[in-house]
Amino acid sequence: MKGEGQKRARRVPGFAPVPAPDASLSGLGKGTLARLARLGIASKFDLVLHLPLRYDDETRLYALNEAPAGEPVLVEGTVVEADIKYRPRRQLLCHIEDGSGVLTLRFFNFYPSQLKQLAAGARVRAFGEIRHGFSGPEMVHPKYRLLHGVAPVAQALTPVYPTTAGLRQDDLRRLIARALADCDLEDTLSPALLEQLKLPYFREAVLLLHNPSPQVPQAALQERRHPAWRRVKFDELLAQQLSMRLHYQRRKSAGAPALRPRGRLAQALLARLPFKLTAAQNRALAEIRHDLAQPYPMQRLLQGDVGSGKTVVAVLAALQCVENGRQVGIMAPTEILAEQHHRKLREWVGGLGVATAWLSGSLTAREKREQLARVAAGETAIVVGTHALIQEDVRFHDLGLAIIDEQHRFGVRQRLQLRMKGARANKGAQPHQLMMSATPIPRTLAMSYCADLDVSVIDEKPPGRGPVTTRLFLDTRRGEVIRRVRDACVDGGQAYWVCPLIEDSEALQLKTALETYDKVRQTFPELKVGLAHGRLKGEDKARVMDAFKAGAIQLLVATTVIGVGVDAPNATLMVIENAERIGLAQLHQLRGRIGRGAEECDCILLYQEPLTDTARERLKIIYEQRDGFEIARQDLRLRGPGELLGARQSGEPLLRFADLDADLDLLEAARAAAGALLREQPDAARAHVARWLGTRHEFLKA
Ligand code: ADP
Ligand code: MG
Repeated sequence: MKGEGQKRARRVPGFAPVPAPDASLSGLGKGTLARLARLGIASKFDLVLHLPLRYDDETRLYALNEAPAGEPVLVEGTVVEADIKYRPRRQLLCHIEDGSGVLTLRFFNFYPSQLKQLAAGARVRAFGEIRHGFSGPEMVHPKYRLLHGVAPVAQALTPVYPTTAGLRQDDLRRLIARALADCDLEDTLSPALLEQLKLPYFREAVLLLHNPSPQVPQAALQERRHPAWRRVKFDELLAQQLSMRLHYQRRKSAGAPALRPRGRLAQALLARLPFKLTAAQNRALAEIRHDLAQPYPMQRLLQGDVGSGKTVVAVLAALQCVENGRQVGIMAPTEILAEQHHRKLREWVGGLGVATAWLSGSLTAREKREQLARVAAGETAIVVGTHALIQEDVRFHDLGLAIIDEQHRFGVRQRLQLRMKGARANKGAQPHQLMMSATPIPRTLAMSYCADLDVSVIDEKPPGRGPVTTRLFLDTRRGEVIRRVRDACVDGGQAYWVCPLIEDSEALQLKTALETYDKVRQTFPELKVGLAHGRLKGEDKARVMDAFKAGAIQLLVATTVIGVGVDAPNATLMVIENAERIGLAQLHQLRGRIGRGAEECDCILLYQEPLTDTARERLKIIYEQRDGFEIARQDLRLRGPGELLGARQSGEPLLRFADLDADLDLLEAARAAAGALLREQPDAARAHVARWLGTRHEFLKA
C-alpha cells in the first residue's frame, strides 16, 4: 500500500548505539541495515521483538454509504475522476463511487504517476478515516491500493510497526515474517511456570501479536492487555531482573579493599555530636559498615527524605574507610551542596586529626594545584567536591570509598568515572560506593531499575522537629503573604523567599534574583535581607550562609538551586514564588529546608493563574502530602520513570513494553521468577537475557 504515514519510531530513550549488525541480518542492503539500526534492530531476533504499535482493522469492507466517520475504515470503489487542483494549495483529488455512495480521496503529497494510476475506471481500495468536509465525505491521505481482479480482504488485523524514514510498513512486515520463520522461538520458560502465571508460550505470543486472527478481541490487543502482550511484557521484565542480578553477582566477584570497622574515629565523632543518631540512622549505618568490611565492592543506595540526616551517616562510613588508611571521595552535584558538606565535615572531623580537601571549579589555578598534589600524595583523607572530582587531573592516592550525594543528578558514566579513579589507585580493586538520594525512588522503580543496588532507608526524622504546614496563595494575595513574613521575622525569627523559577537561562535567573532582592528589600525596609544564588563566589556565598545561620540575616532571598544545602534551624517560614512552575521533587526538597527546629513552620506556595492541569495536580499533591515516598510515587505517575531516574537511564534502555504502574503484578512475578531461574536453570536464564538484551547487556552496568 502507498501513501502510508511514517510513524515515529518508538525508540528506546538513551539506547546505547547498537554495534555491528548481527551476522544473521547480513543478507540485507547497507541502507536497510542502517534504518533497522535506527530502530534498535541488529539481529533477526530483534525483528521478532519489534512489535506493533497498534493495529488497523482491514478485515471488514464497508459500503460507502454505511462506513462510519471518525474511525479508520476500509472501503473500495471505482474512480470517477481524478485531477490536480491548485487552490488553496496543490493537491490531488480522486473521486470514487461504489453504487451506494461517493467519496473523495485527497492527497497533498503525491507523485505525478499517482494521477495516471488513478485514472477514471480504475478500482481502488482505501483505508482511512472518513470526514464530512465542505464538499461531502472525504479521506485525507488514505492508505490505498489498486485492485486487479478478485482481491480478498485481510483475514487478520494489520499490524502497524514503529518505523523510520525510508523503511515502509510493507518492508518491515516482510522482514519480520521472515524472521519469525527463521528464528528459534523455543521457550526459555518452563511449562510449569507458564501454567502458574497463566501465560502463553513465547512462540504463540509473538505469532499472535504480529499476525492476530480476526477472532482476537481487538480492545485487548490495542490496549495490550491480551495474554500474548502480557507474556511479552513478562519476558521483558524478567530479562531486566536477570540482567541486574547477573551484574550483582559479577560485582560480588570483583575485589575491593576490606575496610574493617575499628570504630575509634566514629566513637570520637559520636561523642562530639550534639545529638544521638536515630534508630533508622543506626540501622543504615550498620548495613553500610558491614558492607565496607567485605572484600568485594559495596554498591549501596542510602535513601532518606530531606532532613532525615543522611550526611552524618555518610561521614561515619567515611571514617571507617579513613581508619583503614584509605581515602574517601564525596561528590555532590552543586557547588553549594559540596561546600556545605565540606564545612560540616571540617566542623565534625577537623578536631579528630582527619585532613580534608575541597575541589571545585571555582578554585584558582594555584589553589587547585596544591589541593591536587595533596590528594595524590595521600595527605588528605577525605576529598569533597563537585564534578571537579572526576576530572582527568585528579589522582587519588588510594581511594577506598566513593560517596555520591543526590545520586540521581549524576549519570551512569560519571559514577563509573569516580569508581575508576579508585580502581587505578588500587591496582584494579574497586572502591566501595555509597549513593545518597533524598528523592525517594518508588518501590516499582527500585524493584526494576535499581535492582542491582542494595538499599538502606532512613525512614524516620530526627526527633523534636516542628510540623510544616503548606499553604497555597494565589499571587493576588501577596499582601497577606507579606504580613506573614513580617510576623515570622519578629523576635529573631527567620524566613526564606525563593525566587521565581526561570528555566534554561542562568543569566535570566540571576537577573530575576537581583530584581526580587531589590523588591523584597523595598517591601521590608526594617528587615536584614540577604541574597544567595548560584553565581555568587565561594567566599561571598559562605558569608551569606554564615550570616543567615547566625541570625544576622533575617530574610534570605534565594534561587531554587540554593534550596539544597542551607541548614538554618531557626527559619520558620518559606515563600516560594511561581510554585506552579516547579517540579514536585524540587518543591519537596525546598520545603524540607524548614521545620528543622522545634517551631511550627509554614511553607507558602505563591502561584499564578491560569494553571495547566499538571500544575494544578502538582500543587494539590504537594499540599496534601508530606511523605517523600508518596510524592515520588505520584511524580512517577505524572512524569514517567525517565525523568524521575534523572540521568541514571542514560545508556540504559527503559522498558519498551511493560508499564511499571499498570503491570505491577508482572513485575513482582518476574522478580520472583528471576531468582528461581538463576538458581535452578542458569543456562535458560542466560539464554533469556541474550534473547532480550543481546549485546546491550554489556551496556547495563550502572
Ligand atoms: P539530609 O538527609 O537531607 O541530607 P542532613 O544530613 O543535612 O539531612 O541533616 C539535616 C539536619 O539534621 C542537619 O543539621 C543534621 O546535623 C541534623 N541531624 C542529623 N541527624 C540528627 C539526629 N539524629 N538528631 C538531630 N539532628 C540530626
Ligand atoms: Mg543531604
